Amino acid sequence: MPDQKQILSTLKEYFGYDSFRPLQEDIVNSIFNGYDNVVIMPTGGGKSICYQLPALLLPGITLVISPLIALMKDQVDGLKANGIQAAFVNSSQNENEQQEIYQKLLNKDIRLLYVAPESLSFLDSLLSQIEISLIAIDEAHCISSWGHDFRPAYTQLGYLKSRFPDTPLIALTATADKATRQDICQQLNITNATQFLASFDRKNLSLEVRPGNKRIEQIINFLENKPNDSGIIYCLSRKTTEMLAEKLQGQGFIAEAYHAGIPHEKRAKVQESFINDSVQIVCATIAFGMGIDKSNVRWVIHYNLPKNIEGYYQEIGRAGRDGLPSATLLFHSYADVVQLQKFATTSGNQEVQMAKLDRMKQYADSLSCRRKILLSYFGELIEEDCGNCDVCKNPPSFIDGTIIAQKALSTVARIKEEEPIGTVIDVLRGAQNAIVLDKGYQRIKTYGIASDISWRDWQQYIIQLINQGYIEIAFHLNNKLKLTKLSKKVLFENEKVHLANLTELEKIKEKTVLQTKKVSSNTLFDKLRELRLNLAKEAGIPAYQIFNDATL
Ligand code: ADP
Ligand code: MG
Repeated sequence: MPDQKQILSTLKEYFGYDSFRPLQEDIVNSIFNGYDNVVIMPTGGGKSICYQLPALLLPGITLVISPLIALMKDQVDGLKANGIQAAFVNSSQNENEQQEIYQKLLNKDIRLLYVAPESLSFLDSLLSQIEISLIAIDEAHCISSWGHDFRPAYTQLGYLKSRFPDTPLIALTATADKATRQDICQQLNITNATQFLASFDRKNLSLEVRPGNKRIEQIINFLENKPNDSGIIYCLSRKTTEMLAEKLQGQGFIAEAYHAGIPHEKRAKVQESFINDSVQIVCATIAFGMGIDKSNVRWVIHYNLPKNIEGYYQEIGRAGRDGLPSATLLFHSYADVVQLQKFATTSGNQEVQMAKLDRMKQYADSLSCRRKILLSYFGELIEEDCGNCDVCKNPPSFIDGTIIAQKALSTVARIKEEEPIGTVIDVLRGAQNAIVLDKGYQRIKTYGIASDISWRDWQQYIIQLINQGYIEIAFHLNNKLKLTKLSKKVLFENEKVHLANLTELEKIKEKTVLQTKKVSSNTLFDKLRELRLNLAKEAGIPAYQIFNDATL
């Protein structure tokens, strides 16, 4: 086993770094000790060094399983530029190129060999002729159908441990939820692996969520004080990436679209120009960014709501890898939620997708520190509010909402958790409509118990209760409201509930309506829009929560 001095001098000589980042040194040592390892580290945390450095000091070669051809090529080019012998094999190469690599392997002229999981089987006989000292599985979450970019070929990797039982294995990913982690260990047959969990907190990234109306205008404003800063705008559809790139070009920005439908060469060119700063903005689908090593991305915008928090966190994680302050902005619109719900119901594993979308939405709707929500999603708890998200910077004022919460929760209980938000509000307000009367809800004890609170305020309060975990929406059961573990605390243990103060919002509204009395209906519509935004801003919440309106 190499000593610490040798390890550090190799780090300096080949990678140019004076010291390790958190966990890297422990991981490297664990490999030299022959253990299997699972590494969960955020994007940009420095996972590659964890296997690239041992590869230089171990006797045999390091086999690296990597999911994308483009990713492999970048990594190998980077290593070669540092004077490290590395190669990749994949389906894009011809026979001659492959033979050349095989020969080098047999001559021990290669330290790291990158392969796609699909190519492993035809390398099989070769692998028995060479000494393999380490197997690294990068982007290991691809093995899990629970994860967000499942790759069927990854599931074959389970045989590696039985084929090379004495070779240490290291699985690396930025996806940290517990289910994925367990799935990785089980499928790779490394349930005894040492687990390394890095902190996911990226303090230099500011977090902001805004209602998704007039997004292009908002983006142009956002860019006003960032005339040359590199950034990425993630969109749900290919069409949107192109539309946006065009609009931004029209405003004088150097912007390009990037998605899987663009020819490969053109895509590679966009990526390269972005990396060397000749393109400022890339408007992209999630196809862009995996493995892109660009340290000075200053901002990331999500034009649409992402499908889940893992994806969102990975994408914003592409900003500020150099540790300097960087901005992230998420646009939240009701229309996106509807769209994503449709996607989720047509894809496999519907329930999981819905649950994940639900968490994403709760994050966007949150009235408390967003970083806390993000990190707790990854199992990490922070004590203090972060001070670097929009909620912390502009907190809403709160009222004692315990009685409001008790009324809402006991109504949900009495209608046996069988109704969506609208009917629950109708019961609370004593409405006399068909659903209520047909189902006999006028006979339950809390019927009409809170008609003093307007319909809209009720909606807002219930959404707040959902965000605080006191109620859940069962998206897969027609959006019925369900009680949670926390509900019991409110109903039976007198837990105090804090809700954002809506009365203050009411006052602002009245004022604005008075001012807009004498204008034409069109202008009035615009004014109303503006008013919603102001109200939402005041409360620090998405506007559609105040007026349930898909046009926002
Ligand atoms: P990940 O795979 O976790 O997303 P990478 O391995 O691509 O991250 O590393 C991200 C960036 O951090 C790269 O630019 C890399 O050069 C840099 N980096 C990694 N380790 C160190 C270190 N010990 N000191 C300084 N920079 C480092
Ligand atoms: Mg990586």
